[in-house]
Amino acid sequence: RSKDVRTDDAVWASIAREEKRQQDQLELIASENHASPEVIAAMGTALTNKYAEGYPGRRYYGGCEFVDEVEDLARDRARELFGSERANVQPHSGTQANMAAFMALIDPGDKVLAMSLDHGGHLSHGHPKNFSGVFYEFHSYGVEKGTERVDMDQVRDQAKAVRPKLLLAGASAYSRPLDFAAFAEIAREVDALLMVDMAHIAGLVAGGVHESPVPHADVVTLTTHKTLRGPRGGMILCPKDRIVKINSALFPGGQGGPLMHVIAAKAIAFREAQQDSFKAYAAQVVRNASVLADTLTEHGIRIVSGGTDNHVMLVDVGSIGLSGAAAEDALHRVDITCNKNLIPFDERPPMEASGVRLGTAAITTRGLDEGDMKSLGGWIAETLKAPEDEAVIGRVRGAVAELTGRKPIYH
Ligand code: PLP
Repeated sequence: RSKDVRTDDAVWASIAREEKRQQDQLELIASENHASPEVIAAMGTALTNKYAEGYPGRRYYGGCEFVDEVEDLARDRARELFGSERANVQPHSGTQANMAAFMALIDPGDKVLAMSLDHGGHLSHGHPKNFSGVFYEFHSYGVEKGTERVDMDQVRDQAKAVRPKLLLAGASAYSRPLDFAAFAEIAREVDALLMVDMAHIAGLVAGGVHESPVPHADVVTLTTHKTLRGPRGGMILCPKDRIVKINSALFPGGQGGPLMHVIAAKAIAFREAQQDSFKAYAAQVVRNASVLADTLTEHGIRIVSGGTDNHVMLVDVGSIGLSGAAAEDALHRVDITCNKNLIPFDERPPMEASGVRLGTAAITTRGLDEGDMKSLGGWIAETLKAPEDEAVIGRVRGAVAELTGRKPIYH
């Protein structure tokens, strides 16, 4: 986009400030990333103008020949990337992908067994105010108190007690691998279908550093903007005998026209994720998370379940006498962005919480490595132990500025 098309100063000034904020702050929000300039460029194209209800070759509008090419590229690349028989790349978001999956697999009022939201599940996995909790009867499994990990024997016992139509595996704040084969076995035992929501770990799966749920699940949903580093959006993967139902649950079931500019950006992101450089990136994300968790532990700050195997960790800031909200604020003052988060069995209310969730997907994209994680862990510990000490805040802020200046986003 050339500069001269920009006449709306108010909006462009805010966009410029947000771009600078991303450049100047270390982004530790586990669900965020920095999409490539090419992915971002695709979203600013005339494809946004096109109505294309339906699917390639079967549209309800004329003039779809070129957006068909784009959607075919996105679908083919998605299938190749994840080894899935079929893909639907139209969901506007992860939540809408989940909505379509539920509509395709079960009926309103049916029982679903999913991860408790307090233990790391997602809003769209049965929150009472979300469509999922309104239309389906959700029951939940959680982590075990001692290990803070999902115990598959407990999941099995609950599945036998609840007899759900659908078993749902996947989380927003869980740092350990879920045993997809065991989930599939339990689903078979209780005659349920298995859905896996791999929103958070999709990039790690694509990069080959996390087990894939695709061979085990009846349907897999994901977001394209987290570890996968594409545009904001969702996707559904499934075997070929389910795609007709999935497609019609998504459109016309839950959405109208697809966002063709975003689907173009998804196609570009899938090609990026097929490169060796993305495999190296995914491996680095996991190494960085592990070093960051170890460094915080060495500084006396407890990590839920003792560490992480993926890109995310839950830091128990209650262990040093802080609330998650206070920790989030303190880190914001030193230009480190994260979010407060409940920890399992949290005694604080959600708006305070006892934890912060940290993820390494975005900072790894800007080139941070293990050495940087050791520095970062030290700065986080220093800040959280003296959140009112202006000298500490000033010093850490300076150190963050030096690092973000030295390792800018996409340069
Ligand atoms: N599923 C999981 C496990 C998530 O963590 C998220 C987002 O954080 C979603 C679904 C929903 O994604 P979206 O915000 O695109 O609706």
